[in-house]
Amino acid sequence: MPLTPSDKALVPFVSVDHMMKLVHHIGIEPMLIGLAEYIEADFRRWELFDKTPRIASHSAEGVIELMPTSDGEVYGFKYVNGHPRNTKAGLQTVTAFGLLANVGNGYPVLLSEMTVLTALRTAATSAMVALHLAPKGADTMAMIGAGAQSEFQSLAMKALVGLKSVRLYDIDPMATEKAARNLTGMGLEVVACRSAEESMEGAQIITTCTADKQYATILTDNMVGAGVHINAIGGDCPGKTELAPAILHRASIFVEYPEQTRIEGEIQQLAPDHPVTEFWQVLAGTAPGRRDAAEITLFDSVGFAIEDFSALRYVRDRIAGTDLFTPLDLLADPDDPRDLFGMVMRAGPGAG
Ligand code: NAD
Repeated sequence: MPLTPSDKALVPFVSVDHMMKLVHHIGIEPMLIGLAEYIEADFRRWELFDKTPRIASHSAEGVIELMPTSDGEVYGFKYVNGHPRNTKAGLQTVTAFGLLANVGNGYPVLLSEMTVLTALRTAATSAMVALHLAPKGADTMAMIGAGAQSEFQSLAMKALVGLKSVRLYDIDPMATEKAARNLTGMGLEVVACRSAEESMEGAQIITTCTADKQYATILTDNMVGAGVHINAIGGDCPGKTELAPAILHRASIFVEYPEQTRIEGEIQQLAPDHPVTEFWQVLAGTAPGRRDAAEITLFDSVGFAIEDFSALRYVRDRIAGTDLFTPLDLLADPDDPRDLFGMVMRAGPGAG
C-alpha cells in the first residue's frame, strides 16, 4: 500500500514472503537483469561512495558482518552471517537483512529481508562481471557447490551471458540432485556430474561456490586450462579459500574493493602487493578487461556493500505502487519531537 504523508515515521518492510512475491511479480530472470543494471550503474559512480571493508565478528562456527556504504544522499547497510555448518542443523549458511536511510535526516526509508536478495545480487554481480571478462561465446559453466546460491548463479549467467549448459557438482550428491531438479525446465541444459573434473569438461566459465571454513582446494592448478573465466564466490573470509595459489599466479585477478578482498578473498594467499584490477575500472574504461583468448580471468568475489546498496535501491523502486511491503512502526514519532517522554507516559494504563 502506498505510504501517505501522515505515515512519515512508518518504514516499508519487505518480508521474505514479500520478496518471494516480488521475484514472481517481476520474473526471476528480468529481476536478475534489473539488479545487474542497478549494480553496474553504482559501480560506474564508484568513487563517490563511502567505502570501508566490512566489519566482521568471527567465531569458531562462522562470522557475523555489517556492510555499510553511502552515496551522500542514501545510506545503506546489510547484516549478514556465514556459518558453513548451519545446513547440518537445518539452518541456512547465509542469512541477511538490510536497511536504506535518508542521509538528510537519518530516517530509515526501507527495511528488507536480504537472504533471498543476497543470492540474487551475488548472482547478478557474477554475471555482470562475466559479461565483461568471460571468453567470447561462453555458453557452458561448471557449477561447483550446488548449495543455496547455485541456481541463482546459473540463471543469472543464462539471463546475462547467454549460458546454455550448466554442469553441476557438489561433494554431497543430494545437493547436486536438488540443483539439477530445480533447474530442470528453466531453459538450460543441466548435467549432474560426479566429480569437479567432470563438471569442468568443455566449460568456459567455472564457478566455485562451496562453503567450508578452511583453506580448501576446490580447484587444483592442473584442472584449470587456458582461456577460462573463474567466478570464485565461496572464498570470502579469512582462512576460507577455494583455489590453489598456483592458479592465482597464472590468472588476471579482478576484485570489488581490494582493501576488503585482500583480507577475505582468494588473494589473502598472495603477497599484499600482488597486482589486482578493481572491476569498476574496467567499466570506467580505465583498466583493461580480458586481453586475449588464452588469458585466465578470475573474479575473486567476496561481496561488497555497494552491491547490497544497489539491490536495496532496486527493491525500493520496484515495491513503489505495490502492496509488497508492510508499513513498520519502527521509529518513535511524538507530535512534539522533544516530548518523547510524554508520548511514552500517555501510552500507559488508562490511556485512551
Ligand atoms: P551452502 O552451504 O548452501 O552450499 C555450499 C555447498 O558447497 C554445499 O552443498 C556443500 O555440500 C558444498 N561443498 C562443500 N565443500 C565442497 C567441495 N569440496 N566440493 C564440492 N562441493 C562442496 O552455501 P551457499 O549459501 O550456497 O554459499 C556458498 C558459499 O558462497 C559460502 O561460502 C558463502 O559464504 C559464499 N557466498 C559468497 C557471496 C559473495 O558475494 N561472494 C555471497 C553469498 C555467499
